[in-house]
Amino acid sequence: MNGSKSRPESVEGVQETPRSRVAGYLRDIPRSGIRDFFDIVSTRKDVISLGIGEPDFVTPWHIRESAIVALDRGATTYTSNRGLIELRRSIAAYLRRSFGVEYDPETEVLITVGVSEALDLAVRALLEPGDEVLYHEPCFVSYRPEILFARGVPVSVSTRREDGFRLTREMLEARVTPRTKALLLNFPTNPTGATLTRGDVEGIAAFARRHDLIVITDEIYSELTYDGERLSVASVPGMKERTIFLHGFSKGWAMTGFRLGYACAPAELSEAMMKIHQYIMMCAPILSQKAALEALKSDFDTGEMRSSYEKRRNFICAALNEAGLPCHVPQGAFYVFPYIGDYGLTSKDFALRLLDEENVACVPGSAFGPCGEGFLRCCYATDLEDIKTATTRIGRFVSRLRKR
Ligand code: PMP
Repeated sequence: MNGSKSRPESVEGVQETPRSRVAGYLRDIPRSGIRDFFDIVSTRKDVISLGIGEPDFVTPWHIRESAIVALDRGATTYTSNRGLIELRRSIAAYLRRSFGVEYDPETEVLITVGVSEALDLAVRALLEPGDEVLYHEPCFVSYRPEILFARGVPVSVSTRREDGFRLTREMLEARVTPRTKALLLNFPTNPTGATLTRGDVEGIAAFARRHDLIVITDEIYSELTYDGERLSVASVPGMKERTIFLHGFSKGWAMTGFRLGYACAPAELSEAMMKIHQYIMMCAPILSQKAALEALKSDFDTGEMRSSYEKRRNFICAALNEAGLPCHVPQGAFYVFPYIGDYGLTSKDFALRLLDEENVACVPGSAFGPCGEGFLRCCYATDLEDIKTATTRIGRFVSRLRKR
């Protein structure tokens, strides 16, 4: 309805239907299920939260210090739209040593406000209205909405617990159509912790080439790979030309609050993303860019944080299995995704009752897409003692459910 008028006005006797202030396509997109759930959690005291997907480490001191020093020296300006050239060079060097992929820092690297912005730029740069994007579920809550914001059509591919939530070429072939423009990947995956084998990655690459698709790969958890090879589809020969590689500092370097990420892509696509970025964002914050420069120094190793997560992963998987919630062992990220479907409750009811009865907050699997129903996401980037208490409480809750 417009202005302060409470009723639609009649112009020359014609009754107008009220006009919504909010765009229709936006009204139809639900709020994130994680936020809804945590609005409830925030009203309660003494909750152990395995909920929000955020490192429990403070950003390492030398990284924070570099931002403080930069501020002290007066780094308070815009940077170039693409970001500081020194940082783009460091990112290119890091990608060469970690993934064996070469990017030109002048034309193929764009610094963004988190992977969140990078993802938005990627879909907006690629999609015409009605273009389809394939993505695997359960997945990060933003993927579907981001594709819809870009007026694309999200097409999900369900992955299964029985397969360790892997994605294969055959699963993609079953969902591709002539309207498919892009494929969105996230390995290690939020919320399942799944990774791919080399064979899977090569199969997916062959699929993308066969159907002439652009692959957007969200590598935000790649530092946190515990088992097997650290792989990216961008490293497969012939794939860099059709890949938009997204990464950032939030998870591996515990820098969520710095809001810094980047997108690497062939010059033509990078230029298109840059165009949107320069009008909507100008540039990423200079202090965060200075901090990221320090984070990428080749002598800084994120391995200590990784080992700490790995220890907690091993504990929580064993404890949940023992509590009667079977979970496949995630090979990366910092989430476990136990199956809760044997207890006759939806994942939302399970999570709400667990919160109510035992003061433990986990995210209902349904927040990550329909095929997440029957699961719970538990983030183990939390103090080990809290994880121990939480899993004891979960065990108690599950044994009560069994008796009912
Ligand atoms: N991708 C995935 C898979 C994520 O889990 C998250 C954050 N939870 C993001 C992207 C967004 O990260 P950023 O902080 O870099 O915006």
